[in-house]
Amino acid sequence: MKAFGPKYIWFDGRFVARDRAQVPLTTHAIHYGTSAFEGIRAYWNSENLCIFRLGDHIRRFRRSGKYYSMSLRFTDAQIRDAVTGLCRKNRVRESCYIRPFYFVGQHGVSLHVTERSPTHAAVLLLSFQDIFDKDGISAHISPWRKFSGASTPTQAKMGGNYLNSIIATQEAKRRGFDEAILLDSSGSVGEAPGENIFIVKNGRLATPPVSSALKGITRDTVLRMGRAMGLEVSVRRITRRQLYGADEVLLCGTAAEIVPVTRIDRRKIADGRPGEITRRLMDQYSDIVMNRNRRYSRWITEVY
Ligand code: PMP
Repeated sequence: MKAFGPKYIWFDGRFVARDRAQVPLTTHAIHYGTSAFEGIRAYWNSENLCIFRLGDHIRRFRRSGKYYSMSLRFTDAQIRDAVTGLCRKNRVRESCYIRPFYFVGQHGVSLHVTERSPTHAAVLLLSFQDIFDKDGISAHISPWRKFSGASTPTQAKMGGNYLNSIIATQEAKRRGFDEAILLDSSGSVGEAPGENIFIVKNGRLATPPVSSALKGITRDTVLRMGRAMGLEVSVRRITRRQLYGADEVLLCGTAAEIVPVTRIDRRKIADGRPGEITRRLMDQYSDIVMNRNRRYSRWITEVY
């Protein structure tokens, strides 16, 4: 397969060659993590490129920066056109990952960021690949806790917030696990570094509240799919013991999609194989993102 290397990116309102878009070392975001970002997937279904829940991603994108008074100097419609236009400009005819971001530019080293601080916005296209083995992954309960909303807003997808995810990922890999699961500051199950978590117990689906987890768009998709399948679905506190004793555990996020967790801290989850409900959710998710389930086609933005 040909390497995916789209020539153009979108930068502050214009399509420019990737190598031409540069920022100076004095960029505030490099020093302090003052960037807001999104991760979006587009799926090529052999007829069209289908962007999944683009409107929801754009709404969260704007909201993230707002927590920090960072201005996104483009309307939602302009960001939507930037994303779809960039796919067209690069003639993308394969599934890809879309990364819009905006960040504080020339603002010296002051910590007093306001709506008037200069910001830049960009959109990149990256190659699409499975980040986890869909036949099941191992995870461990991280020694690192998910940062609490009492320290920084947990719903803001800001560059700086991801240091928590990075250190938890490093520790998981160092110990030979595929992924980390972070408890929240009270010791309940929170989320993974870049995914939300669900358990299945006695046919019931449950996920922790978003007090210390990102309100994931895939999480919302799984909740809705679960209800539509007639499952009992709840948002509730999940303890470490309930996690070990679950019939099924899954992680979900835009990049990871839906992935079964079959071992946690070297213990098997149930019989150590992906569970039936997880499999059904994975199959249905694939159909939805490929726009093969008309019931959910309102979530799809077709590029061509
Ligand atoms: N939690 C964290 C910390 C994340 O970074 C992500 C990825 N955005 C998720 C959960 C999943 O969110 P979504 O389904 O919207 O991609």
